[in-house]
Amino acid sequence: MRYGMVLGLVWCTSAMAAEPGLRVGWAQADITPALTAGPVYIAGFGQNRQATGVHDRLFVRAAVLSDGTRQIGLTSVDLIGLFLPVIERIRAQVPEFAFVIVSSTHNHEGPDTLGLWGPSPFATGVNAAYLDQVVTQTVTALRAAAKSAQPVTARWGTARNPDLLNDNRKPTLKHDELVALQFQMGTKTAGVIVQWNCHPETLNNKNTLLSADFVGYTVAALEKHYECPVLYLTGTVGGLLTSLDVPINDAQGRPLQDGTFEKTERYGQAVAELAKQALQAATPITLTPLGGLTQAVFLPVDNKLYQAAWHIGVLNRPIYEWAGAATTARPITLATARERKCPLAVRTELTWLRLGELDVAGVPGEIYSELVLGGVPDPAEAGADFPTAPIEPTLYAAWKDRKKMLIGLANDEIGYIIPKRQWDAVKPYAYGRTSAPYGEINSLGPDTAPLLLTAWRELLSGVKAGRNEK
Ligand SMILES: [Zn+2]
Repeated sequence: MRYGMVLGLVWCTSAMAAEPGLRVGWAQADITPALTAGPVYIAGFGQNRQATGVHDRLFVRAAVLSDGTRQIGLTSVDLIGLFLPVIERIRAQVPEFAFVIVSSTHNHEGPDTLGLWGPSPFATGVNAAYLDQVVTQTVTALRAAAKSAQPVTARWGTARNPDLLNDNRKPTLKHDELVALQFQMGTKTAGVIVQWNCHPETLNNKNTLLSADFVGYTVAALEKHYECPVLYLTGTVGGLLTSLDVPINDAQGRPLQDGTFEKTERYGQAVAELAKQALQAATPITLTPLGGLTQAVFLPVDNKLYQAAWHIGVLNRPIYEWAGAATTARPITLATARERKCPLAVRTELTWLRLGELDVAGVPGEIYSELVLGGVPDPAEAGADFPTAPIEPTLYAAWKDRKKMLIGLANDEIGYIIPKRQWDAVKPYAYGRTSAPYGEINSLGPDTAPLLLTAWRELLSGVKAGRNEK
């Protein structure tokens, strides 16, 4: 096995036991933006949705796992997404970690951290000082979690409930498996990690109070029940998996409406109940040794709106000249790109963590369920733009018999990752639609999925292991 070899050789002479057990630490830090420092634009729906108050506070939550040889930090922020360069600023401050995943819950009721939801389509909604605060608080949480690490044992469980998800784009395919990990010190629960696949947007597009949406309620319910810290991670959300239009009733059996805190709370509690169900059936799992690989991937930016947003400064991250390969691209300036009208690319990354018996996929955006589980229509639906595009191998194809978990929006948010064969931007539209489906407008382009899934296969095959291993 290539896991554990490199650092193991360096560190095995330390005072650590040869095969130390798992240690896990927990921490959280507040990342609620101040409303006194200028307007806060709420992300996720239309532009210019200015926050008028705080309903519940936003957090970065961290769990730090250690096997005595290396540390891995898993963090989640109650935000719409963060671009890779912001996460690289965080990682630069915690070089003692072998891997750090900063994932966003994809909260649609928090501040704009990407740029697309400002006062107008031509002005960013990002407050740079606020991003600095997110970086600082995430570093603080990671360090505090590492400091608090205690020896633990772990249990693993899953539970499914398709009724808690609405898939609002055909084909209907819900990644409805919740994954939960319980860490124990004796009979006491030291912490819980829960991973579920849903857009946190129950409060919908009219709400102007900052909130973590249902995720805040899920975490609160589980913290109360298990009397321990809880880390919530968002997984598959493309396709698009949402709580909107999911029927949820109040205690008297009356239906609750989208856009209300009552529905948001009840939905969050229902997700917590599913997590409890998963943990009731949980079995022991070994999570050491800790290892992993990352791989940089360049992706072309075909989306004309994104290109325009770049040129006017609404999107702000380094750009590259797309040269036809996901493995390499040259950084360029916007001025050069304009002058030469060259195709643009972004640099993102994939992460594969192997935590003992558990495999974790870190995907840098909103992946469609079909790319995780399979189920791309074959033959293609009439009207699809690329009916003969090869079907991408699924993310989980190589892990059929393994315990697995997916972290979406992991270390980046590149938008939707759509099976190429389901790409549908040009008339006529699939499934008899009279207008274009939602999804393509928030995707880099039709080649995103084939390039990412090819890179994923290379990552799993260890082709680039020597270069990427830590
Ligand atoms: Zn989304």
